[in-house]
Amino acid sequence: MIIIENIKTLHNHLFTIKKDSKTIGFVPTMGALHKGHISLILKAKVENNISVCSIFVNPTQFNNVSDLEKYPKTLEADIIKLKKADCDFLFLPSVEEMYPKNEVNLYYNLGLIETTLEGKYRPGHFQGVCIIVDKLLAIVMPTTLYLGRKDYQQCMVINKMMQDKPYNINLCICDTVREEDGLAMSSRNMRLDEIERQRALRIIESLQMIECNLKIGSLELLKKSSVIFLEQNNYKVDYVEIADAETLELQTTWDGKRKLVALVAAYLNDVRLIDNIIL
Ligand code: AMP
Repeated sequence: MIIIENIKTLHNHLFTIKKDSKTIGFVPTMGALHKGHISLILKAKVENNISVCSIFVNPTQFNNVSDLEKYPKTLEADIIKLKKADCDFLFLPSVEEMYPKNEVNLYYNLGLIETTLEGKYRPGHFQGVCIIVDKLLAIVMPTTLYLGRKDYQQCMVINKMMQDKPYNINLCICDTVREEDGLAMSSRNMRLDEIERQRALRIIESLQMIECNLKIGSLELLKKSSVIFLEQNNYKVDYVEIADAETLELQTTWDGKRKLVALVAAYLNDVRLIDNIIL
């Protein structure tokens, strides 16, 4: 695996590769890698000639300074995992490299998907996500971008950002990888102690409660029951919502036909966990 910190150097390497009509699969991450990330790398490898992973903890997508400071950093272990997965390139830029002084950030017109759900509780988050992913795509110019469904809204936001740009990049959205007991893998899980780790299962259970009890008609009681369930288990709930799986418009009733997604975000002490399931 070739590790590159400089934009120009990576660009030069990939330019030569593309000249030979080779395909590139790209997986952007913030590090603290787990099997969810590695599943994306492996898919990028299987489907392309070359795989590129980036690790960059992007400051513009954190609306909370302490969340940024506490974000786990495990670079040595990450490099070992990527080498084991046989990843071809690791892009490891500095903040100065990605955000040169005096550069004005672009603004992305994202519509409803920017301000609902995660956007409501993390103002500015998706602008930050678009700024960094746009920059990374312009550098890597992959054939296909690989994202995890674990961050459902992020997939929709990046899809919209890409559609509004003259990119010719495929988007591959990959299934959420879970621990054996059902907890969605997340870098933030590293911050859970033993008791919190057990209690973290209530997140997927709150979604499964919705899945099991979904009926035509009002969805209000379903959502409320999951909120109460989480609160009874010492969570501070940002939201439990049921939305149209295509548009992310929040739903209050169900006609039995519309494709839905249930999404949750809640704090277990100071660790914020998110998850979703398609219903
Ligand atoms: P992150 O490092 O959290 O920014 O995630 C980098 C990429 O990995 C994003 O596209 C995530 O959606 C994806 N990802 C994170 N956790 C998982 C998971 N448990 N399963 C599949 N993909 C994931």
